[in-house]
Amino acid sequence: MDAMKWWGWGREDVAFTHEDKPGLRPFIQRALDVDVAQPGEPPVPFSTVDVPEPKVDATLLAALRAAAGVDHVSVDPHDRVVHARGKALRDLVRHRTGDVGRVPDVVVRPGDEAAVAGILRAALDADAVVIPFGGGTNISGSLEAPAVEERTIVSLDLGRLDRLLEIDAESRLARVQAGVFGPHLEEQLHAHGWTAGHFPDSFTHSTLGGWIATRSSGMQSDKYGDVADLTRAVRVVTPAGTLVTRPVPSTSTGPSVREMVLGSEGRLGIITEATIHVHALPAQRVILGYLLPDWPRALEAMRALAEAEVTPSVTRVSDAPETQFSFATRKAPTAFDQVKSRALQLALRRLGIDAEQMCLSFVGYEGSEERVAAQRRAVGRIVKEHGGLCIGASPGELYDQKKFDTPYIRDFLLDRGTLADVSETSAPWGALPRLYDNVMADARAAFARLGITGYIMCHLSHSYHSGACLYFTFAFKPSGAREPLEEYDVVKGAIQQAFVDNGATLSHHHAVGTEHAQWLEQDISAPGVAMVRALFDGVDPGGNLNPGKIV
Ligand code: FAD
Repeated sequence: MDAMKWWGWGREDVAFTHEDKPGLRPFIQRALDVDVAQPGEPPVPFSTVDVPEPKVDATLLAALRAAAGVDHVSVDPHDRVVHARGKALRDLVRHRTGDVGRVPDVVVRPGDEAAVAGILRAALDADAVVIPFGGGTNISGSLEAPAVEERTIVSLDLGRLDRLLEIDAESRLARVQAGVFGPHLEEQLHAHGWTAGHFPDSFTHSTLGGWIATRSSGMQSDKYGDVADLTRAVRVVTPAGTLVTRPVPSTSTGPSVREMVLGSEGRLGIITEATIHVHALPAQRVILGYLLPDWPRALEAMRALAEAEVTPSVTRVSDAPETQFSFATRKAPTAFDQVKSRALQLALRRLGIDAEQMCLSFVGYEGSEERVAAQRRAVGRIVKEHGGLCIGASPGELYDQKKFDTPYIRDFLLDRGTLADVSETSAPWGALPRLYDNVMADARAAFARLGITGYIMCHLSHSYHSGACLYFTFAFKPSGAREPLEEYDVVKGAIQQAFVDNGATLSHHHAVGTEHAQWLEQDISAPGVAMVRALFDGVDPGGNLNPGKIV
């Protein structure tokens, strides 16, 4: 897998454009007071970036080369900068201006678990810092070394540990190396008729080890489970040796060491391998679009779906602001689209659905033909009971095709001096309506305090027995009166504070890192924080493993 851009998301040769989406320019003009057709400000060229000389002594360098092989130890400036941070908005804003922070001194790419153990041993002997690196896609500041770190920093890139090792077809389990990227994992599983079913929006550039270390969720986690559910066992190289857990379906051996590794963000060791659930490739897969009359009824419909235990693979519904954004990103309509659109207008009028309030939903179905048909009937009934209607498979197909391109929109907006980011959370069903109202109100109050034109929108992205994940996206053009990141902190802080003040968690699937650490105590209480700290201090007394993250 090629490295991502050092200053943004994804590949250099892929970019988001408004030119094929006639509704987008006027939408952004209205929502953010930004004309996207005006020339923007590109990132500085890499040649102008001041990358400090690597600080690594000869003994450590020799030991790293002995462990990983000479060709797999790099002090190349570009390589080090790519490994310096993840893809949080703060990371991108700083990188684009040439502020690359405390870059790792050396990047090492082990080829097997023994090499990982050798690297860790060499680093501990030299009192160096080790930061495991998967795909570098995290958006919570989980990779950046503290600015004040004076020890040598080793970025341990797991990219060469990318193989499917074994499938136990009877138990529907696969043993996989942790550095495998999403597409390569699925490719290897598909060859045997299986899927892991884990598809985060960052799928193309993130790894199994990174998913486990951040407790990731995918867009089909409603069916396949979050990574915490589908990870049955792990192998982790720690300062005390290799931690091995058994791939049992359930156990009373508590506290769960497997759970301690899930979400550990490199603080406990390096995950080299995991045993994960796999499923037979489904006979049928379809995503249908629905429109619901307004957000309260949309939320209630999703709750009713969970209560009815229909378990589709995707349950997603956007609020009205996000629905309007989605419609604005449509490509120019064909004559057939225009006919369909007139028919849809009529149906909406008949049902009394107001275009300003309506909420776009996608529900995904997978499995045998009979199962899909039964699920579709059950969902259709619930949508109808909540005043909505099905709009067919084409919006769902479009969503399915676009989902991995959407992340490029952040760079498009940054090029135009506009900041866009996300904050997501989860809470019980009963808390969701108030949570939503308060987050929207607090974000808009933050925009008003700063005197800026901002936009905030939301979708429900995952449903559970007792609640759901709400995923907020916000954007604004900084006022120019302060540093852009200062204004970002005001808006992001207001949203995060509203989460914890309204009974929700600091993040449903983006982890803690440094971005969310200030809300940890309000989320899990002071004794909870003390337990986490004691765990990290006990396993890593020298603070060599990715220091400064989570606590
Ligand atoms: P990295 O970013 O490289 O690392 C993340 C953390 O895990 C770091 O602390 C690192 O040290 C540690 N780590 C990595 N590998 C290992 C290992 N083998 N052993 C020990 N520690 C390790 N997340 C979701 O869950 N769902 C989404 O839909 C989603 N969509 C996203 C969309 C975009 C555009 C972006 C930028 C991010 C998105 N994310 C999403 C967040 C991110 O992709 C996840 O956090 C992902 O799990 C990180 O995986 P990675 O391989 O990139 O890990």
